[in-house]
Amino acid sequence: MADTTLMSIPGQVDPVPVARDITPRADGRIDLIGLPKSRIRELFADAGLDTKQAKLRAKQVFHWLYHRGVTDFEAMTDIAKTMRPWLDERFVIGRPDVVEAQHSTDGTRKWLLKTADGHDFEMVFIPDADRGTLCISSQVGCTLNCTFCHTGTMRLVRNLTPGEIVGQVMLARDALGEWPKGRMDGLGEDADRGHYTADGRLLTNIVLMGMGEPLYNFDHVRDAMHLVMDGDGLALSKRRITLSTSGVVPMMERCGQEIGVNLAVSLHAVNKDVRDEIVPLNRKYGLEELLQACADYPGASNARRITFEYVMLKDKNDSDEDARELVRLLKKFDLPAKVNLIPFNPWPGAEYECSDPERIKRFSDIVFEGGISAPVRTPRGRDIDAACGQLKTAAQKKSRAERDREAAAAAEANA
Ligand code: SAH
Ligand code: SF4
Repeated sequence: MADTTLMSIPGQVDPVPVARDITPRADGRIDLIGLPKSRIRELFADAGLDTKQAKLRAKQVFHWLYHRGVTDFEAMTDIAKTMRPWLDERFVIGRPDVVEAQHSTDGTRKWLLKTADGHDFEMVFIPDADRGTLCISSQVGCTLNCTFCHTGTMRLVRNLTPGEIVGQVMLARDALGEWPKGRMDGLGEDADRGHYTADGRLLTNIVLMGMGEPLYNFDHVRDAMHLVMDGDGLALSKRRITLSTSGVVPMMERCGQEIGVNLAVSLHAVNKDVRDEIVPLNRKYGLEELLQACADYPGASNARRITFEYVMLKDKNDSDEDARELVRLLKKFDLPAKVNLIPFNPWPGAEYECSDPERIKRFSDIVFEGGISAPVRTPRGRDIDAACGQLKTAAQKKSRAERDREAAAAAEANA
């Protein structure tokens, strides 16, 4: 069982439960996934290796873990045969458990995953002609309760650890068969870094747009993204990673400075009343404050624009006036912006309807005429509930009545 004791999270606005960085398994072994090279080195030294050995072994193991994707110490062929059982007795190479894998008719894939302490979460892979995007989760559930979002109706269970976040990317590479297969004879300058370049890959981009608010789990998301971006690790460019936030203003500058990935902001409304209603975080950090933080976002430029996500809700935020106000606001703050119009994806019990296609087209045209790109995003994977905002794990999807029945049956069984 992983330790999910309460810990305070630096920069965190509302306290949430979070697992500690090192969560020994029931048998006492430590999972190495999610740890930086320096931490692996410390653990090896603590377990008895001298400084030089710990450093060398950490470097080798790190490469096998993150660059080659091996899940068994026995496969680490440049590590002495006698050393491999020593590692195996003390450490594990974890992956989130796959509870279920689903395939949409449009090629989208969704995985229902489970943490070592039994919490469900989800990730989605969206293949396109020129890219393959993995949408990963940062929390189990979300505290923010946006009224149009299915995840928001879940109770937050806990933050995901760095290992559980980077583990999603590693699992996707396992499933897509995308680890380099070349021989590795050493770790010198001429070490074999695999056969292929980014061009051959199915998984080219990552978006932090799954379950959860990534800026409410800042440290873990940052540490996981460093492993994803590390040239000796998964080696994905920061330009191919996008973090989506509903507007956690106090963490946005640090996101640019310490993670440096592309930013997407879930705007969804252009006036206080509507945004207060549909993105309740707006009551804490208002529109003007949010747009100012976007204008100040480190690294944003015309070459690296900020994406403004806008979910199209019928008769709520989709008028011509809304579109014009959106253009005015983005111009007022002189933002290097592009707008992503997301047709609302329905879920059972949702209070909203998606705007009509003609309305969405008109809205998009007005924003385009204002000089800002505003494509309409095609929903993907709706048939397997994999589209934006539809993620909510099967256990939580059960009706209240079903859950009550199950609880009553369990109570009876225990009586
Ligand atoms: N918590 C972060 C990231 C996850 S949500 C955020 O809110 O930005 C990813 C995107 O999906 C957000 O823009 C979110 O507003 C949008 N979304 C949520 N529910 C949706 C739904 N039912 N239909 C369409 N988009 C939705
Ligand atoms: Fe949380 Fe994002 Fe859903 Fe809002 S839209 S409830 S912030 S996951």
